[in-house]
Order: sequence, then structure tokens, then C-alpha cells
Amino acid sequence: MAMMPSWQDKTFGGRKLGGKIRAALWLETEVGEGNIFTKAQLRQAFPGDAQIDRRVRDLRDHGWRIDTSRDDPALKQEEQRYVTKGAEVWIPGQAKTAKHKNSLTDAQRRKVWQDDNFLCRTCGVGVGESYGDGGIELSKLNVARREVLMADGSTEFQLVTECKRCGTRAGERQVDLGELLSTVKALAPLERKVLAGWMEADRRALSPLEKLWGVYRTLPADARAVVKQAVTDED
Ligand SMILES: [Zn+2]
Repeated sequence: MAMMPSWQDKTFGGRKLGGKIRAALWLETEVGEGNIFTKAQLRQAFPGDAQIDRRVRDLRDHGWRIDTSRDDPALKQEEQRYVTKGAEVWIPGQAKTAKHKNSLTDAQRRKVWQDDNFLCRTCGVGVGESYGDGGIELSKLNVARREVLMADGSTEFQLVTECKRCGTRAGERQVDLGELLSTVKALAPLERKVLAGWMEADRRALSPLEKLWGVYRTLPADARAVVKQAVTDED
């Protein structure tokens, strides 16, 4: 593992450490994931940097999750919670990998939507559709960055289509691709075939069993009893 500079270092390996990097190191070593810090503590640690609040906010563009009282009602107004670490910005090159939301061009955005069939990958709503909950709100698609833990243990931020509603509801989501792949490998051949069919169609068709259940549950009691009898009868 590479050596980590101290948050108090102003240079490391001949490189100048900026406020953002030092703020990241401070969160990692002094606060620790899951813990709360206040703006006063932050300013006390970095008395020379008037922009230190902004440096911490900028870390979000590198996948760092830092909640405020707006994200987490359990926090007081002056408190923030360091939820999860993002890119290790103190490693040369790591800080450059993040792409700011606004830096996406219309063409890049459209490419992400196209790859996702113009569906919110979180709730499945299409573009400009109603949510089917009786509300008048129509969906608006955005592009979100999803933290993907790769099978080799590295982390990537990949772009995904997400509707505005899903984007405001949840915090950062993370997916463990390695775990997912081992679950796929453990599937029985029939399960794998069914899954492959859904993936090909990009939707889940109801199985004959589910269709049967769907009809069965709507039947009157007498009719249900007949069907139930047929199922439990052994030939
Ligand atoms: Zn959605």
C-alpha cells in the first residue's frame, strides 16, 4: 500500500498538497468514516484556508460522500457527516479522474441515456412518463455517477441514467460487481437462461408460474379452491 501523506503536510514527495487533498486526508485520519465533524473543527484544522468548506464540498465530485443536515435530518445544522471515502485524491492522477456533473456535454449525456434505453436504472421510469402513483409529476432523466467496486478490488465511477426523483431521494449508491459476478456464477443453468432472456429484452417477463399466480389471486374463493385442489392433487 502506498504511503499516505499527513493532512498537516504541505508538500509530499516534492508535490504541493492543495486544500482539497489535505481536507481529504484530515477527514480520513482525524474524523473517520461514519463520524460527524463541524465547520468549526474544520476551520480550526485549516486556519490558513478561507475556502476550506468549499474544498470539502469539492471532494463530492471525487465520489466522497459527505452529508449535511439537509441530507441527514439527524445532523444539526453546523454538523456534517463523513459517510464514505471516494477517490484517493492524494495519489497523483486520482484527483483528475473525477468528472464534474456539469462537464458532461449534451452528446455524452445522450449517449448514457441511449445505452440505458432511456430508462431510469433505479426505478425503471421512462423519459417523460408519469410515475403511476396518481401524481401529475412527469419523469425527467438525469445522469448520475455510480460507484462500482470492480472484481479486482478497484473502484470506478460509471455513468448511469437516473430520474430526477431517484436522484434526490437517495444518497450515493454503490454496487459490488465482484459480489454480483459470484452470485451469477452460482446460478443454476435454468436460472441463468431466464436471466439472460431478461437481459436481452432489458425487461423482466413474467414466468408462466407468476402469470398463473397473478390470475389465481384474483379468483373468487370457490374458484381458488378448485385450482388449489388441482395443484396439490398428485397424479
Ligand atoms: Zn427513477
